[in-house]
Amino acid sequence: MQLPKWIAHRGASQVAPENTLPALQQAKALGATWVEFDVQLTADDVPVIFHDETLARTTNGNGVLCKKTYAALSQLDAGSWFDASFSGVQIPTLSEWLHGAATLGLGINCEIKVPADRAACAVDKVIAALKTYWPEHLPTPLLSSSTVSCVSALHAAQADGAYSIGWISDTWASDWEGILSENGCATWHVAHSVLTAERVARVRAAGYAVLAYTVNARALAETLFEMGVASVFTDDVTSFSKINF
Ligand code: MG
Repeated sequence: MQLPKWIAHRGASQVAPENTLPALQQAKALGATWVEFDVQLTADDVPVIFHDETLARTTNGNGVLCKKTYAALSQLDAGSWFDASFSGVQIPTLSEWLHGAATLGLGINCEIKVPADRAACAVDKVIAALKTYWPEHLPTPLLSSSTVSCVSALHAAQADGAYSIGWISDTWASDWEGILSENGCATWHVAHSVLTAERVARVRAAGYAVLAYTVNARALAETLFEMGVASVFTDDVTSFSKINF
């Protein structure tokens, strides 16, 4: 699969509210070629783009996102917390986000963040939306999750292998090779702090690309690339777009 050296984490999340359409548009405007974003399900099974389990940090609402209907979420302001100039910006639906990313010509890494008992439903919704909105001429979408049951559901749902699968882990999991192989993964997304050259070499030798998060310093990115890391997730789209990695 074709991967860029860096991926805009939640859109251009330092210059616009993360996981909103302005962050997607700013990522493109600043020079990103790929964006990462998080998908969750509302109480009525609408896939929306949102990072936290709870609403308080990045909206004017409160409570747990998965307990709210889409109608309730659509009333919230997801921009003012970042800056008054983004007042009225809404939580995007997956359909809106995919349409936007496709129109901008961006590659996508879609992280699925749902409890294990919602994994199959979320995967069905994501794949249905991709079939509707994702054009064939753009890079193959990379679908990922830190929940192993989601990664398994991704593997089970696409016998055609139309999309690449990644597993996310913030620790060095001793059973990484089994999880990656059993679930048809192409990539492993790992917190940069647990990576060493020896570890990256082992994963690459087994046939998987290593992606590291979250990397906002040039020197750290270069060290990781020297280890053999394929791509890094960054919040600092403004700086990384000016570097010729
Ligand atoms: Mg994410």
